[in-house]
Formats: sequence, structure tokens, C-alpha cells
Amino acid sequence: MSAQQLVDKLLIENLKALQPYQSARRLFKSDDLAEQPGWLNANESPFANEYNLNCERLNRYPDCQPASVINAYASYAGVNKDQVICSRGADEGIELLIRAFCTPGQDKILICPPTYGMYAISAETFNVGVEKAPLKADFSLDISAINSFKDKVKLVFICSPNNPTGTDVAGQQLTQVLDTFAGNALVVVDEAYFEFSQQASWAGKLAQYPNLVVLRTLSKAFALAGIRCGFTLADNAVIQALLKVIAPYPVPDPVAQIAKQALSSAGISQMQQQVSVLNDEKTALSIELGKISQIELVGDTAANFILFRTPAKQALMDYLVKNGLIIRDQSRQLALDNCLRISIGNPSQNQRLIELIQQFFTPEQTAS
Ligand SMILES: *Cc1c(COP(=O)(O)O)cnc(C)c1O
Repeated sequence: MSAQQLVDKLLIENLKALQPYQSARRLFKSDDLAEQPGWLNANESPFANEYNLNCERLNRYPDCQPASVINAYASYAGVNKDQVICSRGADEGIELLIRAFCTPGQDKILICPPTYGMYAISAETFNVGVEKAPLKADFSLDISAINSFKDKVKLVFICSPNNPTGTDVAGQQLTQVLDTFAGNALVVVDEAYFEFSQQASWAGKLAQYPNLVVLRTLSKAFALAGIRCGFTLADNAVIQALLKVIAPYPVPDPVAQIAKQALSSAGISQMQQQVSVLNDEKTALSIELGKISQIELVGDTAANFILFRTPAKQALMDYLVKNGLIIRDQSRQLALDNCLRISIGNPSQNQRLIELIQQFFTPEQTAS
């Protein structure tokens, strides 16, 4: 029997049809393109910052939850240190919640598409059902649709600012969701992009809402997607449940060292300064895009990306790739036909991007 036949025989039934998450980095690998292109497809930061690494303890297993990182993040987020768990990116936080609270083949989660793809992928991987309450046409939550899932789901995932629409969820809507599911489901507010938004974080409301969970990451504003470091903030009872399912050494020592430096006061002010550069770039870029008649800006710009619709979606995407700028196709998402998403790059990448897009939409000047 070949390995493939053996795998076909042994593989878990619900995984047979499952496709791995089409992450930005899986769709375009660095070696697909001759030159190092402008990566504007994964909502990464364009800034690569310097850190020191001490190798003296690399022969030792790290702490499960290094106090230096937990304390620094708790202080940054304004929560108690017993309300924080650190994991391999916010993506692992999503997975831990599903594994701790959803019985495979029985329980369900609720998502509000168009939204971040990993909630559904993680659930499907563990044979947990996915219910959907699509966003309204203006990308606000459909509260009555959400309420209809009361007692039918264990986890409700709300992304604010939402990826890929860039819209903040109104505080008053989130309060309604927290109230509806009080006592029967956890409401997970994914704040991966919160640093780019003007809205206050929900981390300050943990004491008020025992069913509130907040997801955070160092991948976006802190420019550390490469170290895979995220945080889940919740009441200590929820944190204790997640600690039951997390790996014994989930935070590698080099990750902890770098995270600690990023969360120092110098690291935080550097992050804030870079966020302000990116927010200015984002405003300038969206003004220029808005002037192009074949482009319709979609959603809002509360995060570090811009979403837009154009009938020339595929041709524009191909033109940008050919010229070394990779952006992300979002057109397969619910209600986002013909939509593309641009992550804000550094000023020269943004300049090159807008020049290419303007060229693309300007008909060839014919010599008279
Ligand atoms: C990028 C992203 C994450 C994942 O962050 P990691 O910490 O890199 O795993 C989570 N949620 C949303 C909405 C994201 O866009």
C-alpha cells in the first residue's frame, strides 16, 4: 500500500475535502518572482525593526508563559496579568478557543462574513460547525440575524476593525451581542488591527462582561508577523481553560526576548510613530484611489489596508504582479465581488502602486 493510499484510508473524514487556508504567503511565495516584489497582500508592516538576541539560555526549555512578556502585554493592554495568555499568533488563540469550548461533531461557532478566514478554517479542521450571520450592506452587524443563533453556538467571532472591510463595529452593536450571549456563549472580539483605529479597545470591559474575549497580535502594528506572537485577553477562568489545551512550550525563547523589547516603552512609541506614518499614507492613498472613476472604495480604512472594487479586477491584479507589486484578491468573499485589498506599504511602495494604478487606467496616449 502506498503512503497516499494509507493516508486516504486513515485521514479524518472531515479533513478529506478541506483545503489549507490560502494565506497571502501561500498564494505568492518569495521564489515565485524574479525580483523581491512589494508585498502589499498580507497586511504586514513595511517596517523591519532591529532587536537584540541573547543566546545564553537557548539550551533550556522556555517558560510556558514567560512572565516578562505577559506582564508587559498586560500593562500595554491595561488588564491584569492573569487575564492574558500568549500564543503562536492570534491564529493560535482562535484555535485554542475552539479546542477548549467546542465539542467536535456537535458544537458550532458563529461568524459574520465577509470576515477573516481563519475562524471557519480552524473550526472545520476540528470538525466544529460554522454558522453565518452575514454583515449588512453597510458592513454593520445584523443584530437580529446574530440573535437568532442564541443557544445554538458556543463562540461568536466579531472582527473589529474587520478584515477585509476595514470597518469598526459600533460599540452599541457589540454591547447588544455581549448581552444576547451573556451566560451562553463567549463573544470573541478580534482586535488584530486595533492600533490603527480611532476606536477604544474592548480590553477595558473584561470585568463588565464575563463572556468577552479579546484577541490581539504583534503581527500588524508592531511589525512582528515573523515571530508569531499573539495574545488572548479574557477573565482568568477563560484563560485557565485555554491553558489546558495549549502546548507545553508555545512561546520560543527568541520570540519572548523580541516581544519583551517590542513592548518596552521605547518599542511602544516606535510602534505608535510607525502607525501614524501608515495612517497618513493610507489617507493619501485612498484620496488618490478615490479620484479614479473605475475604482469604488469599499468599506472603511480603520485598519492598515484599503479595499476597493473595480470591474477590471483581474487585469489590474495581473498588471501589478507583472510590475512587482502583490496585492490581495478578496473577490471570492461574500458581497465583495470584484474587490481587491491593498496593505499600506512604505511611502515609496505606495507611490509606485498609485503610479501603476493610474497608468493602468489611463488610455494610451496616441501620437497625433
Ligand atoms: C492577521 C490577523 C490575525 C492573525 O494574527 P497572527 O497573530 O499573525 O496569527 C488575526 N485576526 C485578523 C483579523 C487578522 O487579520
